[in-house]
Amino acid sequence: MEHPLHFYNTLTRKKERFIPLNPPFAGLYVCGPTVYGDPHLGHARPAIAFDLLFRYLKHLEYKVRYVRNITDVGHLENDADQGEDKIAKKARLEQLEPMEVVQYYTDRYHVCMDLLNVEKPSIEPRASGHIIEQQQMIEQILKNGFAYEVNGSVYFDVEKYNKKYNYGKLSGRVLDDLMTNTRELDGQDEKRFPYDFALWKKANSEHIMRWPSHWSEGFPGWHLECSVMSTKYLGKKFDIHGGGMDLLFPHHECEIAQSVAAQGEDAVRYWMHNNMITINGQKMGKSLGNFITLQELFTGAHKILTQAYSPMTIRFFILQAQYRSTLDFSNDALQASEKGMQRFFAAVKSMNNLVPKETSTVDIKSLRNNCYEALNDDLNSPVVIAHLFDAVKMINSVSAGSESISKNDLDELKRLFRDFFFDILGMKEENASASDNEILKDVVNLMLNLRMEAKAKKDFVTSDKIRDELTKLGFEIRDKKDGFDWTLKS
Ligand code: ZN
Repeated sequence: MEHPLHFYNTLTRKKERFIPLNPPFAGLYVCGPTVYGDPHLGHARPAIAFDLLFRYLKHLEYKVRYVRNITDVGHLENDADQGEDKIAKKARLEQLEPMEVVQYYTDRYHVCMDLLNVEKPSIEPRASGHIIEQQQMIEQILKNGFAYEVNGSVYFDVEKYNKKYNYGKLSGRVLDDLMTNTRELDGQDEKRFPYDFALWKKANSEHIMRWPSHWSEGFPGWHLECSVMSTKYLGKKFDIHGGGMDLLFPHHECEIAQSVAAQGEDAVRYWMHNNMITINGQKMGKSLGNFITLQELFTGAHKILTQAYSPMTIRFFILQAQYRSTLDFSNDALQASEKGMQRFFAAVKSMNNLVPKETSTVDIKSLRNNCYEALNDDLNSPVVIAHLFDAVKMINSVSAGSESISKNDLDELKRLFRDFFFDILGMKEENASASDNEILKDVVNLMLNLRMEAKAKKDFVTSDKIRDELTKLGFEIRDKKDGFDWTLKS
């Protein structure tokens, strides 16, 4: 290809040409969710950013093995080495077996990913399914002298590692600076050094997720699973490791240290990080009251939302920013995306009805090349969308009769949308638009309010008729003390 794919490598801090280790194969590992709660906005961005990469690599005819893990053990509260396991805590609060929590939220994550048209990874390994491999890696790190055991727990020796290698090369942090800015945390006295991190933790008596090992009955440290599962499925050296910028330090920094300590060299050749999402200019957080789950976005059921937003609106909105730029969610911005996306789908519809003429007055020659150039420049999806929008304008002009298009050009235009808009950007037509759903909701509520009025007037013939007719249409109506509740059975 004339313009080969380049993307920004966080490790070297520059845009580099992508040259896979064993073409045509390409290995991609992305840190997946910790499954202890409903998938939220923060999950949508990395999923879509790396879905775009996955789709584009396949379009370029690479044979991609895409591994995205499920964290189901070892991720403790506050991402620290102390505190309760996030999944075990949820299990305790809900009185469930931890793996019930894992299954429930993994299923919900998958439903949301399907709705967002995020393709399934090739392999989706779980941390709890790789305890033996994690123990083997700990043994290797211990053997190489970069870890130590205290009271049944094993910690990574950051200071010793840093003497031989460079701890902090991914994040650009310097250990001495880290040291001066670190306050000693309570209960971390087992560690020789505050920045040491757990490879294996001895489980205390209340800890329910535990496995036997040489050192103690316990559980692996959070960072270990990704070092283990990436190299297990992609090889000791593999092409791309992705994840959100929030994982860069300490998670990915620790991953590098573990791999180097175990095998003497880095496992990853290109590190890629997507930027974060803010909401009305603020970081998303439960304490700020702006924490929005994907389900709430799709249904509009959150106090800061003025309407529901369809999954494709969310996808389009995320793709309208390059993955390394910040992205701010607001109702205005989402409504603008919704309108923009609807113009695309309307144009695709009219494109399929265009009648070609002998000659073209529109110039579509450079469009395909422009789209490739934008993608090859660090997956610049907003620029791709801008070029496709030029095509939308052409379609509208031809449709209005002010321009004409030849059969060859029309065929190429159709291929352009198929390749870039549908296959690579991953957009798809949704059955009912969000506004249709809103109208449906209003109409059903209106009918049920009329039924309540009829009941209040003791006009039971009318009230029963409304209920029976709605039931026949598939609605399930439940009367409540102060009103009603309904759902549409699918
Ligand atoms: Zn990870």
